[in-house]
Amino acid sequence: MHSNTGDPMARTAYLVERETVSEWAATVDVLIVGFGMAGACAAIEACKTGASVLIVERTSGCTGTTSAASGHFYLGGGTPVQLACGYEDDPEDMAKYLEAVALEPDRDKIRLYCEGSVAHFNWLEDQGIPFERSYYPHKNVIQPGKECLIWTGNEQVWPYREMAKPAPRGHKVAFEGEEGGGALALRILSDRAVEADAQVYPDSKVEALVRENGRIVGVRVRRFGEAIHLRANKGVILAAGGFGQNPAMVAEHVPILASAYVQGSPYDDGLGIQMGVAAGGVAIHMGQPFLTSPFYPPENLLKGILVNCDGQRFVAEDSYHSRSSIYATQQPEGIVYLIVDSRTFAYPHFAALTKQSLIDGFETIAEMEAGLGIRAGTLQGTMEAYNVHAADGEDPTFHKHPKWLQPLTEGPYAAFDLSFGRAVYTGFTLGGLKVSSDAEVLTERGQAVPGLYAAGACASNIAQDSNGYASGTCLGEASFFGRRAGRHAAGTLN
Ligand SMILES: Cc1cc2nc3c(=O)[nH]c(=O)nc-3n(C[C@H](O)[C@H](O)[C@H](O)COP(=O)(O)OP(=O)(O)OC[C@H]3O[C@@H](n4cnc5c(N)ncnc54)[C@H](O)[C@@H]3O)c2cc1C
Repeated sequence: MHSNTGDPMARTAYLVERETVSEWAATVDVLIVGFGMAGACAAIEACKTGASVLIVERTSGCTGTTSAASGHFYLGGGTPVQLACGYEDDPEDMAKYLEAVALEPDRDKIRLYCEGSVAHFNWLEDQGIPFERSYYPHKNVIQPGKECLIWTGNEQVWPYREMAKPAPRGHKVAFEGEEGGGALALRILSDRAVEADAQVYPDSKVEALVRENGRIVGVRVRRFGEAIHLRANKGVILAAGGFGQNPAMVAEHVPILASAYVQGSPYDDGLGIQMGVAAGGVAIHMGQPFLTSPFYPPENLLKGILVNCDGQRFVAEDSYHSRSSIYATQQPEGIVYLIVDSRTFAYPHFAALTKQSLIDGFETIAEMEAGLGIRAGTLQGTMEAYNVHAADGEDPTFHKHPKWLQPLTEGPYAAFDLSFGRAVYTGFTLGGLKVSSDAEVLTERGQAVPGLYAAGACASNIAQDSNGYASGTCLGEASFFGRRAGRHAAGTLN
Protein backbone atom coordinates (compact mmCIF):
# COMPACT_ATOMS: atom_id res chain seq x y z
CA MET A 1 0.00 0.00 0.00
CA HIS A 2 1.32 3.41 -0.91
CA SER A 3 0.79 6.36 1.32
CA ASN A 4 1.45 10.06 1.32
CA THR A 5 1.33 10.43 5.14
CA GLY A 6 -0.06 13.64 6.60
CA ASP A 7 -1.91 16.66 5.32
CA PRO A 8 -0.47 18.93 2.56
CA MET A 9 -0.02 21.92 4.88
CA ALA A 10 2.11 19.90 7.24
CA ARG A 11 4.04 18.47 4.33
CA THR A 12 5.20 21.81 3.06
CA ALA A 13 6.79 22.44 6.46
CA TYR A 14 9.18 19.55 5.83
CA LEU A 15 10.45 21.02 2.56
CA VAL A 16 11.70 24.54 1.85
CA GLU A 17 12.97 26.07 -1.37
CA ARG A 18 16.54 27.30 -1.76
CA GLU A 19 15.38 30.92 -2.14
CA THR A 20 14.31 30.96 1.50
CA VAL A 21 17.85 30.14 2.66
CA SER A 22 19.96 33.26 3.26
CA GLU A 23 23.12 31.52 4.40
CA TRP A 24 24.70 28.06 4.60
CA ALA A 25 26.31 27.38 7.97
CA ALA A 26 28.40 24.61 6.38
CA THR A 27 28.77 22.84 3.06
CA VAL A 28 29.68 19.17 2.61
CA ASP A 29 29.36 16.52 -0.06
CA VAL A 30 27.10 14.10 1.79
CA LEU A 31 24.82 14.89 4.69
CA ILE A 32 23.35 12.10 6.77
CA VAL A 33 20.29 12.50 8.98
CA GLY A 34 20.63 10.15 11.98
CA PHE A 35 23.54 8.24 13.52
CA GLY A 36 22.10 4.75 13.90
CA MET A 37 23.02 1.60 12.00
CA ALA A 38 22.07 2.95 8.58
CA GLY A 39 23.67 6.37 9.15
CA ALA A 40 26.93 4.99 10.50
CA CYS A 41 27.35 2.55 7.60
CA ALA A 42 26.48 5.23 5.05
CA ALA A 43 29.04 7.56 6.61
CA ILE A 44 31.89 5.02 6.59
CA GLU A 45 31.34 4.22 2.92
CA ALA A 46 30.89 7.82 1.79
CA CYS A 47 34.06 8.88 3.65
CA LYS A 48 36.00 6.06 2.00
CA THR A 49 35.41 7.68 -1.39
CA GLY A 50 37.03 10.89 -0.21
CA ALA A 51 33.73 12.73 0.14
CA SER A 52 33.24 15.17 3.00
CA VAL A 53 30.51 13.81 5.28
CA LEU A 54 28.43 15.37 8.02
CA ILE A 55 26.08 13.38 10.26
CA VAL A 56 23.35 15.33 12.01
CA GLU A 57 22.05 13.48 15.07
CA ARG A 58 19.20 14.59 17.23
CA THR A 59 20.53 13.11 20.48
CA SER A 60 23.82 13.50 22.28
CA GLY A 61 25.12 10.12 21.17
CA CYS A 62 24.35 6.89 19.37
CA THR A 63 21.08 6.17 21.08
CA GLY A 64 18.82 5.16 18.18
CA THR A 65 16.77 2.00 18.06
CA THR A 66 19.94 0.21 17.00
CA SER A 67 21.29 0.62 20.50
CA ALA A 68 18.23 -1.29 21.82
CA ALA A 69 18.63 -4.12 19.30
CA SER A 70 19.61 -7.59 20.38
CA GLY A 71 22.26 -7.78 17.71
CA HIS A 72 21.08 -10.24 15.06
CA PHE A 73 22.09 -9.70 11.45
CA TYR A 74 20.29 -11.83 8.85
CA LEU A 75 23.06 -12.92 6.49
CA GLY A 76 23.78 -16.02 4.46
CA GLY A 77 24.85 -17.50 1.19
CA GLY A 78 27.82 -19.22 2.83
CA THR A 79 29.22 -16.83 5.44
CA PRO A 80 32.39 -17.89 7.27
CA VAL A 81 30.24 -18.63 10.33
CA GLN A 82 27.85 -20.85 8.38
CA LEU A 83 30.79 -22.72 6.85
CA ALA A 84 32.62 -23.09 10.16
CA CYS A 85 29.45 -24.51 11.71
CA GLY A 86 28.93 -26.99 8.90
CA TYR A 87 25.98 -25.30 7.18
CA GLU A 88 25.86 -25.08 3.44
CA ASP A 89 24.00 -22.13 2.04
CA ASP A 90 24.07 -20.27 -1.23
CA PRO A 91 22.75 -16.90 -2.35
CA GLU A 92 20.20 -18.58 -4.62
CA ASP A 93 18.56 -20.49 -1.74
CA MET A 94 18.65 -17.44 0.46
CA ALA A 95 17.01 -15.34 -2.26
CA LYS A 96 14.36 -17.97 -2.93
CA TYR A 97 13.49 -17.96 0.75
CA LEU A 98 13.34 -14.17 1.07
CA GLU A 99 11.20 -13.94 -2.05
CA ALA A 100 8.84 -16.62 -0.72
CA VAL A 101 8.25 -14.85 2.61
CA ALA A 102 8.08 -11.28 1.26
CA LEU A 103 4.79 -9.48 1.09
CA GLU A 104 5.76 -7.79 -2.17
CA PRO A 105 9.15 -9.20 -3.19
CA ASP A 106 11.53 -6.85 -4.97
CA ARG A 107 13.50 -9.58 -6.72
CA ASP A 108 16.42 -7.44 -7.86
CA LYS A 109 16.91 -5.99 -4.41
CA ILE A 110 16.66 -9.37 -2.68
CA ARG A 111 19.18 -10.90 -5.10
CA LEU A 112 21.58 -8.04 -4.58
CA TYR A 113 21.29 -8.47 -0.81
CA CYS A 114 21.82 -12.23 -0.97
CA GLU A 115 24.66 -12.12 -3.46
CA GLY A 116 26.39 -9.45 -1.41
CA SER A 117 25.72 -11.08 1.92
CA VAL A 118 29.05 -12.87 2.46
CA ALA A 119 31.04 -9.78 1.46
CA HIS A 120 28.85 -7.71 3.74
CA PHE A 121 29.48 -10.06 6.68
CA ASN A 122 33.21 -9.75 6.02
CA TRP A 123 32.91 -5.97 5.90
CA LEU A 124 31.08 -5.87 9.26
CA GLU A 125 33.79 -8.05 10.75
CA ASP A 126 36.51 -5.90 9.21
CA GLN A 127 35.02 -2.88 10.96
CA GLY A 128 35.68 -4.75 14.23
CA ILE A 129 32.27 -6.26 15.04
CA PRO A 130 32.94 -9.59 16.75
CA PHE A 131 31.15 -12.76 15.56
CA GLU A 132 32.03 -16.15 17.01
CA ARG A 133 32.37 -19.21 14.80
CA SER A 134 29.71 -21.01 16.82
CA TYR A 135 26.18 -22.36 16.52
CA TYR A 136 23.28 -22.15 18.96
CA PRO A 137 21.14 -25.24 18.36
CA HIS A 138 17.92 -24.34 20.18
CA LYS A 139 14.83 -22.54 19.00
CA ASN A 140 14.99 -19.24 20.83
CA VAL A 141 14.27 -15.56 20.33
CA ILE A 142 17.86 -14.58 21.05
CA GLN A 143 20.79 -16.66 22.19
CA PRO A 144 21.59 -15.98 25.85
CA GLY A 145 25.34 -16.20 25.26
CA LYS A 146 27.87 -15.25 22.61
CA GLU A 147 27.05 -18.07 20.19
CA CYS A 148 26.62 -16.65 16.73
CA LEU A 149 24.54 -18.71 14.31
CA ILE A 150 20.85 -19.41 14.99
CA TRP A 151 17.65 -20.09 13.05
CA THR A 152 15.79 -16.77 13.20
CA GLY A 153 13.10 -17.05 10.52
CA ASN A 154 10.62 -19.49 9.02
CA GLU A 155 13.17 -21.39 6.91
CA GLN A 156 12.18 -24.77 8.39
CA VAL A 157 8.49 -23.93 8.56
CA TRP A 158 6.07 -25.23 5.93
CA PRO A 159 5.63 -24.26 3.09
CA TYR A 160 8.94 -22.37 3.04
CA ARG A 161 11.07 -25.42 3.80
CA GLU A 162 9.80 -26.89 0.52
CA MET A 163 10.37 -23.70 -1.45
CA ALA A 164 14.03 -23.09 -0.57
CA LYS A 165 16.75 -25.18 1.02
CA PRO A 166 16.73 -24.10 4.67
CA ALA A 167 19.80 -22.71 6.44
CA PRO A 168 20.29 -20.80 9.70
CA ARG A 169 21.08 -17.17 8.88
CA GLY A 170 20.77 -15.25 12.13
CA HIS A 171 24.27 -13.96 13.08
CA LYS A 172 24.46 -12.57 16.60
CA VAL A 173 27.17 -10.12 17.56
CA ALA A 174 29.36 -11.84 20.17
CA PHE A 175 27.83 -10.37 23.29
CA GLU A 176 26.89 -12.08 26.54
CA GLY A 177 23.18 -11.62 27.22
CA GLU A 178 19.91 -10.98 25.40
CA GLU A 179 20.37 -7.22 25.00
CA GLY A 180 23.36 -5.15 24.03
CA GLY A 181 24.58 -6.65 20.75
CA GLY A 182 23.09 -3.80 18.71
CA ALA A 183 24.65 -1.18 20.97
CA LEU A 184 28.06 -2.85 20.71
CA ALA A 185 27.88 -3.00 16.91
CA LEU A 186 26.79 0.63 16.72
CA ARG A 187 29.55 1.80 19.04
CA ILE A 188 32.13 0.11 16.83
CA LEU A 189 30.65 1.44 13.59
CA SER A 190 30.28 4.97 14.92
CA ASP A 191 33.95 4.91 15.99
CA ARG A 192 34.88 3.81 12.45
CA ALA A 193 32.79 6.61 10.95
CA VAL A 194 34.48 9.25 13.08
CA GLU A 195 37.94 7.78 12.38
CA ALA A 196 37.10 7.95 8.67
CA ASP A 197 36.59 11.69 9.15
CA ALA A 198 32.84 11.99 9.31
CA GLN A 199 31.89 15.13 11.20
CA VAL A 200 29.04 14.81 13.68
CA TYR A 201 26.61 17.47 14.85
CA PRO A 202 24.96 15.94 17.92
CA ASP A 203 21.89 17.43 19.64
CA SER A 204 20.76 18.76 16.29
CA LYS A 205 17.40 18.03 14.73
CA VAL A 206 16.92 18.09 10.96
CA GLU A 207 13.48 19.56 10.50
CA ALA A 208 13.23 20.20 6.76
CA LEU A 209 14.88 19.44 3.44
CA VAL A 210 16.03 22.22 1.13
CA ARG A 211 15.27 21.94 -2.60
CA GLU A 212 16.86 23.79 -5.49
CA ASN A 213 15.65 23.31 -9.07
CA GLY A 214 13.97 20.06 -8.11
CA ARG A 215 17.06 18.63 -6.36
CA ILE A 216 17.54 18.17 -2.62
CA VAL A 217 20.60 20.26 -1.77
CA GLY A 218 20.55 20.56 1.98
CA VAL A 219 18.66 20.62 5.25
CA ARG A 220 17.38 23.01 7.86
CA VAL A 221 18.55 22.08 11.35
CA ARG A 222 17.32 23.15 14.77
CA ARG A 223 20.36 23.37 17.06
CA PHE A 224 20.15 24.72 20.60
CA GLY A 225 17.05 26.67 19.65
CA GLU A 226 18.53 28.18 16.52
CA ALA A 227 17.76 27.31 12.90
CA ILE A 228 20.73 26.81 10.59
CA HIS A 229 21.03 25.52 7.04
CA LEU A 230 23.56 22.97 5.87
CA ARG A 231 24.33 22.36 2.21
CA ALA A 232 25.01 18.92 0.71
CA ASN A 233 26.46 19.10 -2.77
CA LYS A 234 26.11 15.40 -3.57
CA GLY A 235 23.23 14.07 -1.52
CA VAL A 236 21.19 13.92 1.67
CA ILE A 237 20.65 10.50 3.25
CA LEU A 238 17.65 10.02 5.52
CA ALA A 239 18.61 7.47 8.18
CA ALA A 240 16.29 8.76 10.88
CA GLY A 241 14.42 5.60 11.97
CA GLY A 242 10.77 4.51 11.93
CA PHE A 243 7.51 6.07 13.14
CA GLY A 244 6.43 3.92 16.09
CA GLN A 245 6.59 6.89 18.47
CA ASN A 246 4.32 9.13 16.39
CA PRO A 247 0.78 8.44 17.71
CA ALA A 248 -0.94 10.20 14.80
CA MET A 249 1.00 8.23 12.17
CA VAL A 250 0.46 4.99 14.10
CA ALA A 251 -3.28 5.68 14.31
CA GLU A 252 -3.43 6.48 10.60
CA HIS A 253 -1.33 3.65 9.24
CA VAL A 254 -0.83 0.84 11.70
CA PRO A 255 -3.47 1.19 14.44
CA ILE A 256 -2.83 -2.30 15.83
CA LEU A 257 0.40 -0.92 17.32
CA ALA A 258 -1.64 1.44 19.48
CA SER A 259 -2.66 -1.65 21.49
CA ALA A 260 0.91 -2.90 21.71
CA TYR A 261 4.06 -1.90 23.54
CA VAL A 262 6.06 -0.06 20.90
CA GLN A 263 9.79 -0.33 21.45
CA GLY A 264 12.58 1.75 20.07
CA SER A 265 14.02 5.23 20.11
CA PRO A 266 11.73 8.05 21.26
CA TYR A 267 12.83 9.78 18.05
CA ASP A 268 11.15 7.14 15.91
CA ASP A 269 8.65 9.89 15.17
CA GLY A 270 8.44 9.47 11.42
CA LEU A 271 10.06 12.79 10.61
CA GLY A 272 12.46 11.20 8.13
CA ILE A 273 9.56 9.56 6.31
CA GLN A 274 7.55 12.79 6.33
CA MET A 275 10.46 14.77 4.90
CA GLY A 276 10.94 12.15 2.17
CA VAL A 277 7.25 12.27 1.27
CA ALA A 278 7.29 16.08 1.23
CA ALA A 279 10.14 15.91 -1.29
CA GLY A 280 8.05 13.74 -3.62
CA GLY A 281 8.82 10.26 -2.26
CA VAL A 282 6.21 7.67 -1.46
CA ALA A 283 5.90 5.55 1.68
CA ILE A 284 5.05 1.86 1.35
CA HIS A 285 4.05 -1.02 3.63
CA MET A 286 3.06 1.58 6.19
CA GLY A 287 0.31 -0.67 7.59
CA GLN A 288 2.74 -3.45 8.48
CA PRO A 289 4.10 -3.81 12.01
CA PHE A 290 6.60 -6.19 13.49
CA LEU A 291 4.56 -7.58 16.38
CA THR A 292 5.35 -10.32 18.84
CA SER A 293 4.55 -12.01 22.10
CA PRO A 294 6.92 -14.98 22.01
CA PHE A 295 5.75 -18.09 23.88
CA TYR A 296 9.08 -19.89 23.44
CA PRO A 297 11.74 -20.51 24.77
CA PRO A 298 11.87 -23.07 26.23
CA GLU A 299 11.60 -24.84 22.90
CA ASN A 300 9.64 -27.73 24.41
CA LEU A 301 6.63 -25.42 24.37
CA LEU A 302 6.62 -25.63 20.57
CA LYS A 303 5.23 -29.12 21.10
CA GLY A 304 2.11 -27.55 22.56
CA ILE A 305 -0.69 -26.18 20.39
CA LEU A 306 -2.12 -22.70 19.93
CA VAL A 307 -5.90 -22.51 19.76
CA ASN A 308 -8.47 -19.74 19.50
CA CYS A 309 -11.73 -19.30 21.42
CA ASP A 310 -13.37 -21.86 19.09
CA GLY A 311 -10.83 -24.47 20.12
CA GLN A 312 -9.26 -24.37 16.64
CA ARG A 313 -5.58 -24.26 15.72
CA PHE A 314 -4.64 -21.46 13.31
CA VAL A 315 -0.90 -21.60 12.62
CA ALA A 316 2.06 -23.98 12.71
CA GLU A 317 3.32 -23.50 16.25
CA ASP A 318 6.96 -23.84 15.16
CA SER A 319 6.69 -20.60 13.15
CA TYR A 320 9.03 -17.71 13.93
CA HIS A 321 7.44 -15.89 16.89
CA SER A 322 6.27 -12.79 15.01
CA ARG A 323 4.49 -15.04 12.47
CA SER A 324 2.53 -16.97 15.11
CA SER A 325 1.93 -13.69 16.97
CA ILE A 326 0.44 -11.86 14.00
CA TYR A 327 -1.86 -14.83 13.33
CA ALA A 328 -2.83 -14.69 17.03
CA THR A 329 -3.91 -11.06 16.74
CA GLN A 330 -6.20 -12.04 13.86
CA GLN A 331 -8.21 -14.60 15.87
CA PRO A 332 -11.76 -13.79 17.04
CA GLU A 333 -11.48 -11.16 19.81
CA GLY A 334 -7.74 -11.81 19.79
CA ILE A 335 -8.25 -14.77 22.14
CA VAL A 336 -5.47 -17.34 22.01
CA TYR A 337 -4.41 -20.12 24.36
CA LEU A 338 -1.27 -22.20 24.44
CA ILE A 339 -2.24 -25.75 25.45
CA VAL A 340 0.34 -28.16 26.86
CA ASP A 341 0.29 -31.48 28.66
CA SER A 342 2.39 -32.56 31.61
CA ARG A 343 5.26 -33.70 29.36
CA THR A 344 5.50 -30.37 27.56
CA PHE A 345 4.72 -28.05 30.46
CA ALA A 346 7.08 -25.17 31.20
CA TYR A 347 6.68 -21.47 31.92
CA PRO A 348 7.41 -19.26 28.89
CA HIS A 349 10.80 -17.65 29.41
CA PHE A 350 9.61 -14.14 28.51
CA ALA A 351 6.41 -14.28 30.62
CA ALA A 352 7.69 -11.53 32.92
CA LEU A 353 7.81 -9.20 29.92
CA THR A 354 4.87 -10.51 27.93
CA LYS A 355 2.58 -11.05 30.93
CA GLN A 356 1.46 -14.34 29.40
CA SER A 357 -0.23 -16.15 32.30
CA LEU A 358 -0.99 -19.68 33.32
CA ILE A 359 -4.79 -19.82 33.45
CA ASP A 360 -5.03 -23.14 35.24
CA GLY A 361 -4.30 -26.85 35.17
CA PHE A 362 -7.05 -29.30 34.15
CA GLU A 363 -7.34 -33.06 34.57
CA THR A 364 -9.16 -33.49 31.27
CA ILE A 365 -9.68 -31.52 28.06
CA ALA A 366 -13.42 -31.49 28.75
CA GLU A 367 -12.69 -29.66 32.01
CA MET A 368 -10.38 -27.31 30.16
CA GLU A 369 -13.10 -26.46 27.66
CA ALA A 370 -15.43 -25.59 30.52
CA GLY A 371 -12.72 -23.57 32.26
CA LEU A 372 -11.83 -21.57 29.14
CA GLY A 373 -15.41 -21.09 27.97
CA ILE A 374 -14.76 -23.06 24.76
CA ARG A 375 -17.77 -24.89 23.29
CA ALA A 376 -17.81 -28.49 24.59
CA GLY A 377 -16.28 -30.98 22.20
CA THR A 378 -14.44 -28.52 19.95
CA LEU A 379 -11.06 -28.52 21.66
CA GLN A 380 -11.40 -32.23 22.31
CA GLY A 381 -11.93 -32.72 18.56
CA THR A 382 -8.92 -30.57 17.71
CA MET A 383 -6.68 -32.44 20.15
CA GLU A 384 -7.85 -35.89 19.13
CA ALA A 385 -7.08 -35.16 15.48
CA TYR A 386 -3.75 -33.55 16.38
CA ASN A 387 -2.70 -36.45 18.61
CA VAL A 388 -3.55 -39.17 16.11
CA HIS A 389 -1.39 -37.56 13.43
CA ALA A 390 1.35 -36.43 15.81
CA ALA A 391 1.84 -40.06 16.84
CA ASP A 392 2.75 -40.73 13.17
CA GLY A 393 4.99 -37.66 13.00
CA GLU A 394 2.50 -35.79 10.83
CA ASP A 395 0.46 -32.62 10.94
CA PRO A 396 -1.71 -32.59 7.84
CA THR A 397 -3.39 -29.30 8.83
CA PHE A 398 -0.43 -26.96 9.39
CA HIS A 399 2.58 -29.19 8.62
CA LYS A 400 4.39 -28.45 11.85
CA HIS A 401 7.87 -29.91 11.59
CA PRO A 402 8.02 -33.54 12.85
CA LYS A 403 10.72 -32.44 15.32
CA TRP A 404 8.02 -30.63 17.33
CA LEU A 405 5.25 -33.21 17.03
CA GLN A 406 4.39 -35.21 20.13
CA PRO A 407 0.88 -36.34 21.13
CA LEU A 408 -0.50 -34.25 23.98
CA THR A 409 -2.00 -37.10 25.95
CA GLU A 410 -0.40 -36.93 29.38
CA GLY A 411 -2.64 -35.04 31.76
CA PRO A 412 -2.96 -32.86 33.65
CA TYR A 413 -3.16 -30.21 30.95
CA ALA A 414 -2.43 -26.52 31.22
CA ALA A 415 -3.56 -23.43 29.31
CA PHE A 416 -1.57 -20.20 29.03
CA ASP A 417 -3.29 -16.98 28.03
CA LEU A 418 -1.59 -15.42 24.99
CA SER A 419 -4.58 -13.27 24.02
CA PHE A 420 -3.89 -9.99 22.29
CA GLY A 421 -4.86 -7.28 24.77
CA ARG A 422 -4.19 -9.46 27.82
CA ALA A 423 -0.67 -10.64 27.06
CA VAL A 424 1.74 -7.87 26.06
CA TYR A 425 2.63 -7.74 22.37
CA THR A 426 5.66 -5.63 21.54
CA GLY A 427 6.44 -4.18 18.17
CA PHE A 428 7.79 -1.55 15.87
CA THR A 429 6.97 -0.21 12.42
CA LEU A 430 8.20 -1.74 9.18
CA GLY A 431 6.82 0.69 6.60
CA GLY A 432 8.96 3.43 5.11
CA LEU A 433 10.07 5.26 2.02
CA LYS A 434 10.14 3.38 -1.24
CA VAL A 435 13.75 3.24 -2.37
CA SER A 436 15.80 1.80 -5.21
CA SER A 437 18.52 -0.81 -4.65
CA ASP A 438 20.88 2.16 -4.38
CA ALA A 439 18.71 3.72 -1.68
CA GLU A 440 17.43 6.55 -3.88
CA VAL A 441 14.06 7.79 -2.63
CA LEU A 442 11.48 6.98 -5.30
CA THR A 443 8.32 8.72 -6.37
CA GLU A 444 4.99 6.97 -6.93
CA ARG A 445 6.08 6.47 -10.55
CA GLY A 446 9.41 4.97 -9.55
CA GLN A 447 11.58 7.96 -10.44
CA ALA A 448 14.41 8.95 -8.11
CA VAL A 449 14.04 12.21 -6.19
CA PRO A 450 17.34 13.87 -7.17
CA GLY A 451 19.79 14.18 -4.32
CA LEU A 452 17.72 12.21 -1.78
CA TYR A 453 18.42 8.78 -0.27
CA ALA A 454 16.95 6.74 2.57
CA ALA A 455 18.04 3.62 4.46
CA GLY A 456 17.23 1.73 7.65
CA ALA A 457 13.87 1.92 9.37
CA CYS A 458 12.74 5.00 7.49
CA ALA A 459 12.93 3.03 4.22
CA SER A 460 11.14 -0.14 3.16
CA ASN A 461 13.38 -2.88 1.80
CA ILE A 462 13.49 -6.57 2.75
CA ALA A 463 11.60 -6.62 6.07
CA GLN A 464 8.01 -6.01 5.03
CA ASP A 465 5.69 -7.67 7.52
CA SER A 466 5.47 -9.72 10.69
CA ASN A 467 4.50 -12.87 8.82
CA GLY A 468 7.71 -13.02 6.80
CA TYR A 469 10.09 -11.36 9.25
CA ALA A 470 13.30 -13.04 10.35
CA SER A 471 15.27 -11.62 13.23
CA GLY A 472 18.30 -9.78 11.88
CA THR A 473 16.67 -8.46 8.73
CA CYS A 474 16.40 -4.88 10.00
CA LEU A 475 20.05 -4.54 11.04
CA GLY A 476 21.07 -6.52 7.96
CA GLU A 477 19.31 -4.24 5.53
CA ALA A 478 20.03 -1.02 7.44
CA SER A 479 23.75 -1.76 7.23
CA PHE A 480 23.74 -3.19 3.68
CA PHE A 481 21.59 -0.51 2.04
CA GLY A 482 23.04 2.18 4.31
CA ARG A 483 26.42 1.41 2.77
CA ARG A 484 24.96 1.57 -0.73
CA ALA A 485 23.34 4.89 0.10
CA GLY A 486 26.70 6.28 1.21
CA ARG A 487 28.50 5.10 -1.91
CA HIS A 488 25.80 6.21 -4.33
CA ALA A 489 25.37 9.62 -2.74
CA ALA A 490 29.13 10.12 -2.86
CA GLY A 491 28.96 9.31 -6.56
CA THR A 492 30.82 6.02 -6.73
CA LEU A 493 27.93 3.64 -7.36
CA ASN A 494 25.68 3.77 -10.40
C1 LIG B 1 14.06 -4.07 21.28
C2 LIG B 1 14.45 -4.17 19.83
C3 LIG B 1 15.34 -5.17 19.43
C4 LIG B 1 15.69 -5.28 18.09
N1 LIG B 1 16.59 -6.25 17.74
C5 LIG B 1 16.94 -6.36 16.43
C6 LIG B 1 17.92 -7.32 16.03
O1 LIG B 1 18.53 -8.03 16.83
N2 LIG B 1 18.18 -7.42 14.71
C7 LIG B 1 17.56 -6.64 13.77
O2 LIG B 1 17.82 -6.80 12.59
N3 LIG B 1 16.69 -5.67 14.14
C8 LIG B 1 16.38 -5.51 15.43
N4 LIG B 1 15.50 -4.54 15.80
C9 LIG B 1 15.12 -3.52 14.78
C10 LIG B 1 16.33 -2.61 14.52
O3 LIG B 1 16.93 -2.30 15.76
C11 LIG B 1 15.99 -1.31 13.80
O4 LIG B 1 15.20 -1.56 12.67
C12 LIG B 1 17.30 -0.64 13.34
O5 LIG B 1 18.15 -0.48 14.44
C13 LIG B 1 17.02 0.71 12.70
O6 LIG B 1 18.26 1.33 12.43
P1 LIG B 1 18.26 2.80 11.85
O7 LIG B 1 19.66 3.18 11.62
O8 LIG B 1 17.32 2.88 10.71
O9 LIG B 1 17.56 3.67 12.99
P2 LIG B 1 18.09 4.13 14.44
O10 LIG B 1 19.08 3.21 15.00
O11 LIG B 1 16.88 4.42 15.26
O12 LIG B 1 18.84 5.49 14.14
C14 LIG B 1 18.13 6.63 13.73
C15 LIG B 1 18.79 7.84 14.34
O13 LIG B 1 18.23 9.01 13.77
C16 LIG B 1 18.10 10.01 14.78
N5 LIG B 1 17.10 10.96 14.32
C17 LIG B 1 15.76 10.77 14.21
N6 LIG B 1 15.17 11.87 13.70
C18 LIG B 1 16.16 12.76 13.46
C19 LIG B 1 16.18 14.09 12.95
N7 LIG B 1 15.05 14.68 12.54
N8 LIG B 1 17.36 14.74 12.90
C20 LIG B 1 18.52 14.16 13.30
N9 LIG B 1 18.54 12.89 13.80
C21 LIG B 1 17.39 12.21 13.87
C22 LIG B 1 17.70 9.22 16.01
O14 LIG B 1 17.99 9.93 17.20
C23 LIG B 1 18.56 7.96 15.85
O15 LIG B 1 19.80 8.07 16.50
C24 LIG B 1 15.14 -4.39 17.13
C25 LIG B 1 14.25 -3.39 17.53
C26 LIG B 1 13.92 -3.28 18.87
C27 LIG B 1 12.98 -2.19 19.26
